[in-house]
Amino acid sequence: MSDVELIKSHLTAYPDFPKKGIVFLDICPILRNPLVFETLITHLVHHITSDTLNRSPTKKIDVVVGLDARGFLFGPIIALRLGAAFVPVRKAGKLPGQTITASYEKEYGMDSFEIQADAIKPGQTVIVVDDLIATGGSAKAAGELVAKQGGKTLEYLFVIELMFLNAASKLDAPVYSIVQSD
Ligand code: IMP
Repeated sequence: MSDVELIKSHLTAYPDFPKKGIVFLDICPILRNPLVFETLITHLVHHITSDTLNRSPTKKIDVVVGLDARGFLFGPIIALRLGAAFVPVRKAGKLPGQTITASYEKEYGMDSFEIQADAIKPGQTVIVVDDLIATGGSAKAAGELVAKQGGKTLEYLFVIELMFLNAASKLDAPVYSIVQSD
């Protein structure tokens, strides 16, 4: 079995969660199995460190940004493997000190993300990590927070991408996903 097939076989679909009509794809079974979790992390780190981003080998990733909340499950581990900083992007009101805010549209109404104002230095290279990209609204807001600090997002990484929502077209850098779902 390929690593992608292994990861895919450890996703569970829950119909009508969190509300009727939504099929929720759950990554928790991956976390419960150390071999599968390791495969996932190694897959993403290999993707980043291979030359798919077309960067010079000396241009390393400075910062891994993880999105509240499931981006926190993968982002710090990837950051440690890369020798990069980890920076959380959180729902509004959770981070202390001076913060920068970006709003994004959810299914019903708006929500906002925040980042600490001194988290990213101008010119730093960044990758953004989350479990799943749907409309791309949350990833776009995170990209705006990186750009506001002068960081350069090189890529957006996800375990799952809902292809029919065409989120990649909204973002300022390429999307990489392990599993593509219709
Ligand atoms: P977007 O902003 O519409 O791209 O939605 C992505 C955000 O919603 C991410 O933070 C995901 O964790 C969460 N999300 C949406 N649908 C699912 C799902 O089916 N499984 C897990 N997370 C989901």
